[in-house]
Amino acid sequence: MVEEKKVVKFGGSSLASGAQFVKVKGIVDADEARRYVVPSAPGKRSSSDHKITDLLYMCQQLASHGLNFDEVFHLISDRYIGIRDELNLDVNIESILEQVKTRIRDGASKDYAASRGEYINGILLAAYLDFPFVDAVEVIRFKDNGDFDEHTTEKLVHSILGSVERAVVPGFYGAKVNGEIVTFSRGGSDITGSILTNGIQASLYENYTDVSGFLMADPKLVDNPRPMDLVTYRELRELSYMGAPVLHEEAIFPVRKRGIPIQIKNTNEPDAPGTLIVHDQWNQVKEGTITGISGKKDFTVISVEKTLMNNEHGFFRKLISVFETNDVSIEHMPSSIDSISVIVPDADLKGKQQKVIEEIKIYCNPDTIYSNPGMALLAVVGRGMVKTKGISAKIFHALASKGVNIRMISQGSSEINIIIGIENRDFEEAIKAIYEAFQ
Ligand code: ASP
Repeated sequence: MVEEKKVVKFGGSSLASGAQFVKVKGIVDADEARRYVVPSAPGKRSSSDHKITDLLYMCQQLASHGLNFDEVFHLISDRYIGIRDELNLDVNIESILEQVKTRIRDGASKDYAASRGEYINGILLAAYLDFPFVDAVEVIRFKDNGDFDEHTTEKLVHSILGSVERAVVPGFYGAKVNGEIVTFSRGGSDITGSILTNGIQASLYENYTDVSGFLMADPKLVDNPRPMDLVTYRELRELSYMGAPVLHEEAIFPVRKRGIPIQIKNTNEPDAPGTLIVHDQWNQVKEGTITGISGKKDFTVISVEKTLMNNEHGFFRKLISVFETNDVSIEHMPSSIDSISVIVPDADLKGKQQKVIEEIKIYCNPDTIYSNPGMALLAVVGRGMVKTKGISAKIFHALASKGVNIRMISQGSSEINIIIGIENRDFEEAIKAIYEAFQ
């Protein structure tokens, strides 16, 4: 047995059918260090297929209204029985499915129902890999109020997984001390993998999905964008406007604590390099280029002007509190000596704009206040920016050459990103222009 430990997580499409299980086994068997395996529930086999988790939520919903859910449950049973038979496994999946169905009929919670997707898939995968099955309820602990209990979980993972050489642990859920099942938010198996990696102090967290890592830009906007071979945790956070999520946003936090890297790989193309996510102090900086570009449309800028606002006691606090009490999240707040712009998502402001502006007038007594909708934000991110001259010149030249008008510029304090506000209508053109400038 090798000393090295790796946690490897497989997403739903990687485990959607018997044929996908075969690929997964090939990957696990290829490296002895891949000792702890975290499965998602079976995902879609094609674009018209259903995710098992969605079907389980549907069953619970129907049951909670006293409606018959046999037909939907049938789709779930068929999928698991199909995988078991394809792989010739000796697992009495019918009796497990029967128990789950009975509990859903008897009023089980949403979280219980959804968690069974990973639970049953975990039992099948453990049998197929010939690994012990450790239920996530043993190691992932939630507090009575439903919050994740980081401290207890870390101890449980360390002691329980520390005493087994290999294990399959289903992703996405855990339990309170009283046994009640709690799930993370959707896509949460990524979080389970990260928690286990931290708890057993593995050398690497491998996350297998159906794409070969992160791309430099959204492929819906740029043709064949290059994959990112390496990105730091912080860069990835700054790129969080990125279109389709490859990794759950919260999955980087547990491993980040110990600086353990995450390797994103593609189950269907295991030889492709994928993306390695590394600690923030990573010092092999690729100068002269950017790591990625992301962006989002539909923000409103609320601009407030007041002479000597800097000197007024509590001005910023009062301004921010208006947004807080109205439950409007603030995206950015660039300021100058006598003015400040608060940039908020349109969706948060919907139906509240007049009230927010009135309250700012009352609390902050500004000289002028006006709002401007229809802004898109671009985040151009790169750890190489700090050390390289001319990156911003290149970005702004690219935008100017396409006639894109810039409404706002802000550089994050980490100096690894530049945020640019432009008109919604220029969004696609701007992303393409910046991407091309760095090819
Ligand atoms: N199966 C869950 C979902 O579909 C969790 C996961 O796949 O990570 O959200």
